[in-house]
Amino acid sequence: MLKPLTQRLGGYVCRTCRASLLVPKRRHYASSATPEIYDVVTVGGGPVGLALLAALKASPKTKHLRTALIEFQDLAKQQSWSMASDHFSNRASSLTPASVEFLEQSGTWSHIEQERIQPYNAMQVWDASNDAVMRFDWRAEAQRYNAPPRVVATMTENANLTRALLNRIHELNAGDSLMVNTKVGSVEMGENEPDGADLSSWPTLSLEPSAPKIAARLLVGADGFNSPVRAFAGISSHGWDYHRHGVVATLKVANPMLLEESGTSVAYQRFLPQLGGPIAILPLPNGHASLVWSTTPANASFLKSIEPAAFVAMVNAAVRCSETDLVYMTGLGTQSTQQIVSEYNWRNEHTKPTDTETLVPEVLEVQENSVASFPLRFRQATTLTGPRIALVGDAAHTIHPLAGQGLNLGLADARWLAETIAYAVEHGMDLGDSFALERYSSDRFGKGLLMGGSVDALNWIYQLGSGDGMLSSLFSNARGLGMKAFSSNIAEQTGLKGAIMRVAEGA
Ligand SMILES: Cc1cc2nc3c(=O)[nH]c(=O)nc-3n(C[C@H](O)[C@H](O)[C@H](O)COP(=O)(O)OP(=O)(O)OC[C@H]3O[C@@H](n4cnc5c(N)ncnc54)[C@H](O)[C@@H]3O)c2cc1C
Repeated sequence: MLKPLTQRLGGYVCRTCRASLLVPKRRHYASSATPEIYDVVTVGGGPVGLALLAALKASPKTKHLRTALIEFQDLAKQQSWSMASDHFSNRASSLTPASVEFLEQSGTWSHIEQERIQPYNAMQVWDASNDAVMRFDWRAEAQRYNAPPRVVATMTENANLTRALLNRIHELNAGDSLMVNTKVGSVEMGENEPDGADLSSWPTLSLEPSAPKIAARLLVGADGFNSPVRAFAGISSHGWDYHRHGVVATLKVANPMLLEESGTSVAYQRFLPQLGGPIAILPLPNGHASLVWSTTPANASFLKSIEPAAFVAMVNAAVRCSETDLVYMTGLGTQSTQQIVSEYNWRNEHTKPTDTETLVPEVLEVQENSVASFPLRFRQATTLTGPRIALVGDAAHTIHPLAGQGLNLGLADARWLAETIAYAVEHGMDLGDSFALERYSSDRFGKGLLMGGSVDALNWIYQLGSGDGMLSSLFSNARGLGMKAFSSNIAEQTGLKGAIMRVAEGA
């Protein structure tokens, strides 16, 4: 038996759609192939897709929408995730204050296990190929303007965030929106149903294992780098592989080794052009830290194959020794743990860092089984929307992790898309209509491109100077001068430094 139209469409139906859907057509009984109709179908239960669902369900304007989120992983595991208090997941992200505010607004932040997060309000960035150092201190900046203390970002394990989002979704009684262990088999346009609902412009999804087809007033691709939704929509995505890998690990660092410098937490990033990218040591609670070392595939496999003691020596060397020493140490081979350790110890004792003011935390241990690596790439979709389609997160833009902005971009997408949908609902618009989605794409496309492009340019600038030639040393010196100018009083007085720091906060 055909369900009443309002029930089939679930809660809200905008005026325009209602009119078209009610156009009397031939009387007809639904076949078993008649799709279930949803307002917003999100493919992808990563942090961005879940954040969108939580935001929609938390808003009084959109909570009545019929929503579905399709994810092929079993999210029950993520919801029951737990780890001993002295262990941390190797996948952690620095969330900007703007991201935290969005998660607060959707009621998610209170579900984050606060003992496992670490805000930081200072950063030290330096370059192994010259002696320039940039320091950003948000506490000092706030004091300058007599403003309340600010944080630049909060380190949060991705698993802590995902669990919080799932708990919030269940708290909002929206657990039935989650279709887990389910894969999108295919997406095609629906049919002009003889019973009156013209779904010919609606994306209709076949799910695996088999389930009733579902038709989406708006189909959201939150399905990551290889987005099937993006492919269905025929939206192309341009970019390149960096031929670099991000080596991640959880570290134990000596306290107070500047993770707590005058009461503030500090994030460290040193550019290593000869090894293919920067190494970042980002603070986690109780003397732990998260490592993200962007490097060549060869060095990544070397780092993954050496013994923990050698790994610790390599990380310590990467933030202290000259690049020549580092290149020498990476050439020692995977069998020479003792040699790598003694090479580092000797250098640590007998050589001084190029910049004696550059104090960095000493790494004591690497958490067992925490070393892993991910290929790094840049991709940008040519548009974020199509008819009844919107892309968010890595499906829309995948960027180099050196500025720690990928997830923040995705969360900002989720926030703006949720607001765009709320606006459409409030104003009686069809929320899948290109006109309604224009608000989302016009805001997010440029911002994503700007962030991805800036991070890519930064990566490129810091690759210059990786060789031995005169040109390389010229580039390296020019970069050093730029960094020094940035750290100078002029940059401080003209407000340039403050402006850049506000961009880093995601304001
Ligand atoms: C080394 C490294 C360090 C990083 N550090 C930071 C950082 O400090 N700060 C930061 O902001 N960002 C960081 N990032 C980037 C960040 O991790 C990503 O931008 C973010 O995880 C993207 O989230 P997402 O939800 O868009 O995509 P994903 O996390 O990729 O989620 C996509 C989901 O879609 C599902 N899916 C895909 N296809 C289908 C299908 N056909 N059917 C059903 N489900 C499907 C997948 O199972 C997956 O769960 C880092 C990235 C790397 C590699």
